[in-house]
Amino acid sequence: MKIKKGDLVQILAGKDRGRQGKVERVVLKTQEVVIAGLNQYKKHKKPQGENKPGEIVVIDRPYTVAKVALVCPKCKQQTRIGYKWSEDKKIRVCRKCDAVID
Ligand SMILES: [Zn+2]
Repeated sequence: MKIKKGDLVQILAGKDRGRQGKVERVVLKTQEVVIAGLNQYKKHKKPQGENKPGEIVVIDRPYTVAKVALVCPKCKQQTRIGYKWSEDKKIRVCRKCDAVID
């Protein structure tokens, strides 16, 4: 998974295309990311009994990773990720400016 929690990403598809947001959660199993405040949908909850009235809740729907692109914190451009080895550790680098992303 190239995208990590806390990364700034640009949305490539869907109703929030072109906007940027911070990755709030990464779901490895489904290769999805949840971006705080983006791809929001309202969900209507039915009332459940007398004490729980129905309500409308706003949820952030996940994006598949293919629909977001990382924004490099250094050159501020939407970029692809490359990898480099540093003291036996794999680090992510920006393909455009070579900045270390982690
Ligand atoms: Zn860069």
